[in-house]
Amino acid sequence: MEIASVIVDVPTKQTDRPFDYFIPEQWRGVIQPGMRVIVPFGPRNIQGFVVDLKAESEFEKLRNIIEPMDLEPVLNQELLKLGDWLTESTLCFKIFAYQVMLPAALKAKYEKKVRLADGLAVKDLPETLQAFFENADMLDWDDALKKAIVPQLQREAAKGHLEVIYMVKERVKKKKRKYVRPNVPLTELNNEIERIPANAEKQRQVLRYFSRHFNEVELKKLVADVKTSASTVKALVEKKLLTEFEMEVYRNPFEHRTFERTMPLPLTEAQQTAIEPILNAIEQNHHEVFLLYGVTGSGKTEIYLQSIQEVIEKGQEAIVLVPEISLTPQMVNRFKGRFGDLVAVLHSGLSAGEKYDEWRKIQRKEVKVVVGARSAIFAPFENIGIIIIDEEHETSYKQEEMPRYHARDVAVERALNYNCPVVLGSATPSLESFARAQKKVYHLLSLPNRMNNQNLPAVEIIDMREELRDGNRSMFSRKLFEMLKDRIEKKQQSVLFLNKRGHSSFVMCRDCGYVMNCPNCDISLTYHRVTEQMKCHYCGYESFVPKHCPECNSEYIRYFGTGTQKVEEELGKILPEARVIRMDVDTTGRKGSHERLLTDFKDGKADILLGTQMIAKGLDFPNITLVGVLSADTMLHLPDFRASEKTFQLLTQVSGRAGRHQLPGEVIIQTYTPEHYSIELASHHDYDLFYQREMMIRKMHHYPPFYYLSLITVSHEQLVTVVSEMEKIVSYVRAHVSKEAVVLGPAASPIPRINNRYRYQCLIKYKREPNLINTLKTILDQYQKDTKIGLQVSIDVNPHILM
Ligand code: ADP
Ligand code: ZN
Ligand code: ZN
Repeated sequence: MEIASVIVDVPTKQTDRPFDYFIPEQWRGVIQPGMRVIVPFGPRNIQGFVVDLKAESEFEKLRNIIEPMDLEPVLNQELLKLGDWLTESTLCFKIFAYQVMLPAALKAKYEKKVRLADGLAVKDLPETLQAFFENADMLDWDDALKKAIVPQLQREAAKGHLEVIYMVKERVKKKKRKYVRPNVPLTELNNEIERIPANAEKQRQVLRYFSRHFNEVELKKLVADVKTSASTVKALVEKKLLTEFEMEVYRNPFEHRTFERTMPLPLTEAQQTAIEPILNAIEQNHHEVFLLYGVTGSGKTEIYLQSIQEVIEKGQEAIVLVPEISLTPQMVNRFKGRFGDLVAVLHSGLSAGEKYDEWRKIQRKEVKVVVGARSAIFAPFENIGIIIIDEEHETSYKQEEMPRYHARDVAVERALNYNCPVVLGSATPSLESFARAQKKVYHLLSLPNRMNNQNLPAVEIIDMREELRDGNRSMFSRKLFEMLKDRIEKKQQSVLFLNKRGHSSFVMCRDCGYVMNCPNCDISLTYHRVTEQMKCHYCGYESFVPKHCPECNSEYIRYFGTGTQKVEEELGKILPEARVIRMDVDTTGRKGSHERLLTDFKDGKADILLGTQMIAKGLDFPNITLVGVLSADTMLHLPDFRASEKTFQLLTQVSGRAGRHQLPGEVIIQTYTPEHYSIELASHHDYDLFYQREMMIRKMHHYPPFYYLSLITVSHEQLVTVVSEMEKIVSYVRAHVSKEAVVLGPAASPIPRINNRYRYQCLIKYKREPNLINTLKTILDQYQKDTKIGLQVSIDVNPHILM
């Protein structure tokens, strides 16, 4: 086995295949599949993944592998195979499939350097350049840029005196600390204490310390305990009485936190019924997907915990996914509290080094459970006994860049491999999952009631059209204003929720709530300011912006949207006494700020928490008795066929924030379309009826879960090129799908231009098209090879955001 097949870190069509390399003698038996290696590729040295070892290659004159980057594989056999599946099902480059499985710290970083050609010395260079190479035969490219010597370097390079090389660099080093331990037996150490000269009192104290604790100790601690210096210790090391060594330590993000151990709670009857089939599947190594459908507070998490307990007792491992925003300390505490050090946590709040260390604990099998956001689905366990996805309906489980995978699909793929159950939990399951449960593809488990049969909060819908009619032009209804004031007087807290405005905007009549929809697609038309037009970005339908509302003839028809900052300003005017904490992308950018703002709010440092999506989850504070949704419409009218579903989920979720404890909670939802079923049914907490209504609409307009979707997006600097190439693509697709498929477009994307590139798209709706993947592949191949035109093509199979 002297040849390695390597997937190289060059994401292009031409390089999207394994390349064979010769393994030099010294690395034979060392290099294994799943390891990262450094290989020469063209003029550079780059990183690659070994996917296979073999005795022969069909290619001659193989180049040598330079060196391995790992001492043990970072990808196991199962993950290597999963990479094939990921590549095939999401149409991504293989290198992306492998990179996404690893912590960022292991992704290659290249340093560009300028080096003296072999056999040359610094004095062979022009004098002006010599100074820059004084201490080394290499120069950082970035330095060269800063010092503006690139043209001179180029001239030398042309003469063959210099060359540019790329060096692969690891981003994160293992963290090491210095330790010291005695190097002689205790008796000898005690004898030595006597022999230390009188003027070296500190040395004597250090030896006495070891005489008392005859063990290793961290250098820092030793220095602090004995009140000495590192040089004193060094002197003793030189006398060979002590040895100094380094040990790897994990960066522990939870270092200063203690977790109160919790014990399994006796399950309620409903929980017992729900957990039984999961435990059976675990016991019998049986793959099955369960949909655990239960309102917030119905005891789902306790079921997760006790299922995991069973898995650990069997000697197996568990993966738990929770949405990034609900990876709050509260959530983490529940898992750490039950399983202590057996839990690794992976979320974006950790530094790259911390993430790497958590990942290493998984890789070394030092933990049994990983709790993390989307990418934790690739945790390198090798004996998985259960995969749990909490809040399975969350869109953050879909990655929006290559590889465009959905964690749910990856979960099922991995669980099939390990013959283990998958548990999807939600109070408002995605329509796809609930439909599968109805068809018995998934096993439905229900928890209909909250623990202690606590009531869900009362929800009141406020009709903002009436506010306007009564002369209130503020973004706060009179009712909401009164209630906010009331809470401040009672020293209770309120949460105000403003949906983040999407990139696109819609036009709405403030008098009657009318929003212009596409007659073909049942999504709202997008307002394009430049052309003063309304467009459907699914099918391309266009219309002018009406001057008067077609429904009620009002003139108050205009485009809609407010930011959190503006709301904060207005709050300051109408309720100057209110202390407000604003949470949005602007105020939570820095690491830890999210947590800090929440802690401030919890500690009563504010009356009102104002924020976007990110505050919808995880908030569980006893003093919150009012939740206000400023405008349910902004989400409802996103140009997306899932807009109603998302509105329903979100309203249900934010309502769940109020009155979780002793104090009863109230919810106010402001809207211009109070009669819309997703708003009305959310106010009654009626998922089942919502599901039925929404399924009818999906069926009528050929959307998931009745049809599958694929989205092709192209972009180019020239509008003409984008349109004409997209037309070619659309007719190619039409010619290669069955009559049952619906091919929409070309249509301008909802964000029609990004970075000076025009964007167009084509949406394909289909039921069964075994050839579609190949058709899409051909299109990708064509444009990825043919770089002349400069067209960028991206394809999303099962897109979640159609932007
Ligand atoms: P969910 O995950 O569905 O929101 P949780 O599992 O968090 O629900 O349960 C809600 C509350 O009820 C939590 O405070 C939890 O500790 C408590 N709880 C859950 N199961 C039980 C049980 N069997 N007995 C007593 N309390 C429970
Ligand atoms: Zn109107
Ligand atoms: Zn349309």
